Amino acid sequence: MGAMTSKIWKVTALALLVVLGAAWLGFGFAERSFFKQSAEQSSSTLRLAVAGLRGALSRYEPLPSLIADKADIKLLLSNPHDSTLVEAVNMQLRQIANGVEASDVYVMNLDGLTLAASNFDTDTSFVARNFSYRPYFKIAAEGGLGRYFALGTTSLKRGYYFAAPVRFAGRIIGVVTVKINVDSFEATWRGNRNEIIVSDEKGIIFMSSRADWHFKSLGPLSPDARAAIEQSRQYPIGQLGELPVSTEMLDVADVRVMSITGAGNSERFIANRMPMSEIGWTVDVLTPTAAATTQAYVAVLTAVLILLLVVLMTAYLLQRRAVLFDRINAQLEAQEELENRVNERTADLNKANVQLRQEVEERTAAERQLRKTQADLVQAGKLAALGQMSAALSHEINQPLAAAKSYADNACAYLDRDRPKEARQNIGRISELVDRMAAISKHLRNFARKPQEKIGPIPLAVVINDAIEIMSGRLKARSASTKLDLPQSELWVRGGQVRLQQVLVNLISNALDATSENKKAPVIFLSVVAADKHVRIIVRDNGPGLPEDVIEQMFDPFFTTKGTSKGLGLGLSISYNIIKDFGGDLSASNHPDGGAEFTITLDAAEPIAEVAAE
Ligand code: ADP
Repeated sequence: MGAMTSKIWKVTALALLVVLGAAWLGFGFAERSFFKQSAEQSSSTLRLAVAGLRGALSRYEPLPSLIADKADIKLLLSNPHDSTLVEAVNMQLRQIANGVEASDVYVMNLDGLTLAASNFDTDTSFVARNFSYRPYFKIAAEGGLGRYFALGTTSLKRGYYFAAPVRFAGRIIGVVTVKINVDSFEATWRGNRNEIIVSDEKGIIFMSSRADWHFKSLGPLSPDARAAIEQSRQYPIGQLGELPVSTEMLDVADVRVMSITGAGNSERFIANRMPMSEIGWTVDVLTPTAAATTQAYVAVLTAVLILLLVVLMTAYLLQRRAVLFDRINAQLEAQEELENRVNERTADLNKANVQLRQEVEERTAAERQLRKTQADLVQAGKLAALGQMSAALSHEINQPLAAAKSYADNACAYLDRDRPKEARQNIGRISELVDRMAAISKHLRNFARKPQEKIGPIPLAVVINDAIEIMSGRLKARSASTKLDLPQSELWVRGGQVRLQQVLVNLISNALDATSENKKAPVIFLSVVAADKHVRIIVRDNGPGLPEDVIEQMFDPFFTTKGTSKGLGLGLSISYNIIKDFGGDLSASNHPDGGAEFTITLDAAEPIAEVAAE
């Protein structure tokens, strides 16, 4: 991993931390904002609940006054013991109660005793019960409109009481009360995700969608209030208690958050409150915060996830880019290194080239020198050969010349003695000698040919015969024999006729030199072997052979074992060069039966018609 990459991951880790920190802070903000939203939503619920309550109250409020105007009721209050009347009023009240969906409608005299009631025929009949302790009775008996909420002491049902006085001839003679059950309200509130509570001026919850909050107060209850409740038997004293409520205001969103601690658990609500000042009630709509909190969690989590994704994606992309950069850099470096190396190599090569060129020049100069030296040597060799040849020639010619002289002298003497027959015989001898000398001269001409003769197909048998012919004088002088082993078919090889002849003369001459110390008569074996595209000419003698340690140097110019007076050491060297000129090879070895063996290898060639004819 490159430095760049590790840096990217460090920055990424930092970014992740920042995201988590932001999420931590953002959660509070989101929660508050969702609380506010929730509060706004529940405020409409609150308005609806309050409107419902107000509607119901305003519907029932005029009822007791209307009922109090009924003639039968006034009659009953004046004649409370008229059982027929009681029955009639009872029936009427039941009808009214059913008609207006009130829980109970009843008539009391000024002592608070119930004379007739809509529930006369039930177990919880109000008839003959005294409700003088209820505040609504007291207010109505004094001419006011009594309104009151309480738990029914007989029915044990929570209800709202409206009470109105019954007037007759300007006097108040009784009280009519209509009680409505609040259970039905609560029933409509239930199943809502909000809790609705209605509390009275003492702060006691008398209506709520939550039954366990009934008769609990939202704040501490004063002893006076408690005494008043006990006296009016408004709520069951045993069930009174304080709801453990703590309220906090959210500073930013202006939302009230209420925590209600129950048995072992604490519930948090967003509270919306509206007072119903005309009757001293307060309505609260409590929305559990859980939903808003969950929403906040989801929102923050979503944001965090998106941010994480963005951060990770960015990190990933940056990392990829970094890797790519690294790779490109590495490639550039490699390329640079390669270029450097190529440059170095090129420089080296240039240097080597210059050196090589220098060497080639030196070589060419050396070669030129060598060629010159070789040419000189060839010349020297030729001169040496010429010297030898001159000696041989003078021997070859002097002897027939001397013979010719004596034959000529003899012929003259015979002619003087008039013996022409003998004279003719001698002259014939002279003629033979002249023929022989002419033959020798012919061979000499061959030697005198230019060395720059063309290399081409030459007839091998002719060359070998010429060489032997040239050497015949020396061979004869040494009484040496030649053993030829030539193939039947005529062979042609690539070379120059005169020079190949010169080589053969040389080899034969060396063989004669080598056998000079021999006890036996010298024998020279000359064989020709045709093999594939090559032809081998083998010259072998029965001399002492070649000492192993000189075989290597034998072809060197001026290498000789014969002493300066006799040998120049050029023969084999020149021969070797000639054969190489032909594209062939000259090698030396010792024959298993003793004696040196020289092998000339030449390329086989196709015969040429003209030369063959010649
Ligand atoms: P030269 O004949 O003038 O010495 P060459 O180059 O012809 O020069 O021969 C070199 C040497 O090779 C000779 O001096 C001799 O020692 C050796 N040599 C050549 N041919 C023969 C042979 N047929 N047998 C033994 N030694 C030979």
